[in-house]
Amino acid sequence: MSDCLFCKIIARQIPSAIVLEDDEAIAFRDIDPKAPLHVLIVPRRHIATLNDLTPAEDALVGGLFRRAAAIAGEHGYAERGYRTVFNCNREAGQSVFHIHLHVLAGRGLNWPPG
Ligand code: 5GP
Ligand code: ZN
Repeated sequence: MSDCLFCKIIARQIPSAIVLEDDEAIAFRDIDPKAPLHVLIVPRRHIATLNDLTPAEDALVGGLFRRAAAIAGEHGYAERGYRTVFNCNREAGQSVFHIHLHVLAGRGLNWPPG
């Protein structure tokens, strides 16, 4: 998707602070962090929203959560705690329409979220 911000980051057309990269996904720091650790885990393949997922993506999405746990652990937050969030469409606050899993940690995270 030539007009997708995260496809451009994946293609290295836009720089980012990458924390993990493999065949299926890339993880980089959010440009406007909402917690001391705020990483976005993004599948390389363009999928616009959670509504576009099919059973064929079950393993892909499960893998995003396993990467989230690994990243949180590498940064020392496995026991303290961390939050994973997918925003879907506008009322949930999705602003980039290429699915991404937020990983937030390093402060008390309120519940319910805003
Ligand atoms: P959403 O609002 O779609 O759930 O999350 C999109 C996230 O992407 C936001 O937290 C926003 O700060 C982040 N973001 C937007 N533009 C850029 C960018 O150019 N680079 C990086 N690293 N993050 C971005
Ligand atoms: Zn994309």
